[in-house]
Amino acid sequence: MNNYKLETYLNTLLSAKKIKDYCPNGLQIEGKTEVKKIITGVTASMELIEKAIDYKADALLVHHGYFWKGENEKVIGMKRNRFKALLSHDINLYAYHLPLDVHPTLGNNAQLAQLLNLDIIDGLSAGDPLSIGNIATTKAPISAADFAKLVSDKLNRQVLLEAAGPEYVNRIGLCTGGAQDYIEQAHARDADLYITGEVSERTIHSARELGIHFISAGHHATERYGAKALGEYLITELGLDVTFVDIDNPA
Ligand SMILES: [Zn+2]
Repeated sequence: MNNYKLETYLNTLLSAKKIKDYCPNGLQIEGKTEVKKIITGVTASMELIEKAIDYKADALLVHHGYFWKGENEKVIGMKRNRFKALLSHDINLYAYHLPLDVHPTLGNNAQLAQLLNLDIIDGLSAGDPLSIGNIATTKAPISAADFAKLVSDKLNRQVLLEAAGPEYVNRIGLCTGGAQDYIEQAHARDADLYITGEVSERTIHSARELGIHFISAGHHATERYGAKALGEYLITELGLDVTFVDIDNPA
């Protein structure tokens, strides 16, 4: 598939133009014209670029690309090494940040909800189909400790639980990645528990003072599933050769 056509396809699929973001979404670095083999992953780190080179991929498709608002814009050091590796191997870099969080089926939030056997009932901001984060329900009331254990088992990593809410949980606020500051929004939507990737010192106090359970399950661990699901979708819909590569990250 032509590299620009693939960008147009992905932009449409992920409603990329409708979502305000902290980085440009779509084709961030241009490589060869024809794309057949794609590596998907969470972050366009050097390790993932090297996997793409080994695999002779025509494109890398990630959730965390480059050109973040406020970062040093100079192409020096680590950034130069990454750009050089991509450009010298003619590898296209496609990055979708918030569009890949919020997609109703392929997005990180939808995929995490599915993995945890939750039913999404609304956006974290009520009625917004492109809301960053969601409100979901468990199939049956469950204790916060049992729910935290389920998350640990499913993500294969020990999660952090601050148990500060009711005895049983049913209504869950969720947002993958570094969304700890949406805890107040989750509380305002009557969530019993809020789950995200990262935690800050202040988040624990918020949980205690609001009376809401809080789970931090890892930024990487909660955002592994969108890029993977998108890749599987591209195999089915476009017949492309797509492989997901997980570069483990404890954060
Ligand atoms: Zn993220």
